[in-house]
Amino acid sequence: MSHRPTTSPYVFHVRDIVRSPGAHREVSESFAVPQALGTDIISVPEGADLELNVSLESVSEGIWVSGTARAQALGECGRCLDEVRLDVDATVQGLFTVGEIESDEDGEEPEDVFKFDGESLDLEDVVRDAVVMKLPFTPLCRPDCPGLCDQCGARLENDPDHAHEAIDPRWSALQSLTEQKES
Ligand SMILES: [Zn+2]
Ligand SMILES: [Zn+2]
Repeated sequence: MSHRPTTSPYVFHVRDIVRSPGAHREVSESFAVPQALGTDIISVPEGADLELNVSLESVSEGIWVSGTARAQALGECGRCLDEVRLDVDATVQGLFTVGEIESDEDGEEPEDVFKFDGESLDLEDVVRDAVVMKLPFTPLCRPDCPGLCDQCGARLENDPDHAHEAIDPRWSALQSLTEQKES
């Protein structure tokens, strides 16, 4: 577990509304994310702006958090390796409870339920889950990106008629031998 500074921008005090069902507060904050949200392939990088608009609503089980998180993710196109910028508009939803989190029949903890100490909410996990869910497994600079030539690595976009000379037949025979050996 990494140590989280108490000054985390994700932490909101709710002592005044907790255990007062019906009471609520709107949170509207922009801050630089202290840690990247995402994967090695695409993420909202550390230091990027995140705009958080959520309502914190006191319910009998705790605090219900709902709203949106907006940020820009940076990644690499899975085909041509160009930079990809993606505007992320994620729906944030979660129940923060002071009680025990009950597992379902399969022994799994429910999603979207988080524990808190009754005083302050740490929204980092719920925001991270929401943002990561919006990120593609394979980012593309555009849906029909032609990618790179698998033989020489040239960008096919700049050179659509790109082609290679057929391999010398002698080499080709040798190559198929090698392939047979490998397979
Ligand atoms: Zn691309
Ligand atoms: Zn090529």
